Amino acid sequence: MAQLFFRYGAMASGKSIEILKVAHNYEVQQRQVLLLTSALDNRSGVGEIASRIGMQRSARAIQAADDLFELISKQKSIAAVLIDEAQFMTKAQVLQLTRVVDELNIPVLTFGLKNDAFNQLFPGSEALLIYADKIEEMKTLCSFCGRKAVMNLRFSNGQPVYEGEQVQIGGDEAYMPVCRKHYNQPDLVALARRTSINKE
Ligand SMILES: [Zn+2]
Repeated sequence: MAQLFFRYGAMASGKSIEILKVAHNYEVQQRQVLLLTSALDNRSGVGEIASRIGMQRSARAIQAADDLFELISKQKSIAAVLIDEAQFMTKAQVLQLTRVVDELNIPVLTFGLKNDAFNQLFPGSEALLIYADKIEEMKTLCSFCGRKAVMNLRFSNGQPVYEGEQVQIGGDEAYMPVCRKHYNQPDLVALARRTSINKE
């Protein structure tokens, strides 16, 4: 039986490298995968899955209006569907993925953030937490201490940002994984140092 997986983690928890690794594991067995990512993520160009350690490959960029059941059912001999930036999917798209799993019997592995920079669930993550068969956390450490990072701190000009638009695409120059304590009380000296490093 195929299953719908949701692997979530804070920024820089290795989601993209994991997805590339899973794709590779399928492909060495001569099994084809379909790679999807959100058209909203333009950090390395639209339709790219890129990891911080330098590996990247192209993926089909999905828009909010795309019907994923229709898109996936048109593909021939797909062993699995791998989706990066899954938090940006709509609830309707997550429901389409449940049909891919249940009706087409194709496993779907989704990877994304759980909560946004203001600690609200993203729409795709909320639906995945409800509908996924298997949910796994990918761990990473707080940027300020050794505890597990459970939140994403957005920052700008060396200062934490606690309100704004939910979707603001950015990488290490705009977000850092943090524990709850340091989300509320980031080390401003370390944050300023981090900001100046990123400007160099
Ligand atoms: Zn911390």
